[in-house]
Amino acid sequence: MSSIPLITENQIKEKIQELAGIISSDYPGGLTACGVLKGAFIFMSDLVRSLQVPASCDFVKVASYKGKASSGKISLELGPSLPTEQKKILLVEDIIDTGLTLSWLKDYFSKRGAEVKICALLDKPSKRKIDISPDYTGFTIEDYFVVGYGLDYNEEYRSLPYIGYLKE
Ligand code: 5GP
Repeated sequence: MSSIPLITENQIKEKIQELAGIISSDYPGGLTACGVLKGAFIFMSDLVRSLQVPASCDFVKVASYKGKASSGKISLELGPSLPTEQKKILLVEDIIDTGLTLSWLKDYFSKRGAEVKICALLDKPSKRKIDISPDYTGFTIEDYFVVGYGLDYNEEYRSLPYIGYLKE
């Protein structure tokens, strides 16, 4: 399968500068950025390096079991290592699709006393199952299955510098 470019490396770079500027002015006292593994690892590292305010970094990993009913049962495979109580946590995610993962994570952190916001590089609103939108969005895309810049297909394509969709 080959990957057809959809969003270029330069477009991603520019968007991250723009997002980092907005996030920095919204969090003058700093924040805890919490990346959702594995897909967000590249976006997270580029985003935090572009922030102009102090950022602690944490990661979580979720396991989602998408059965036939696709109601998506979610559990944590790796929990946060930093305190959450009274912290300003920015969940950093590669893509929001049905919304189930981020909605579950937002709830998880809120219940643990955090003030939570969401930053998603990509948004596929057409597949949403829960009414949730990121506070900060990079690009809104059609219903493509995308890879690259951290996103995989069976663990391949993560290291591509751009975002593309797959073609047989
Ligand atoms: P949600 O819970 O919003 O449906 O799913 C979010 C997760 O589904 C993402 O973190 C990602 O792992 C996966 N996902 C959804 N759409 C895509 C896509 O187009 N490409 C890839 N590689 N993963 C996707």
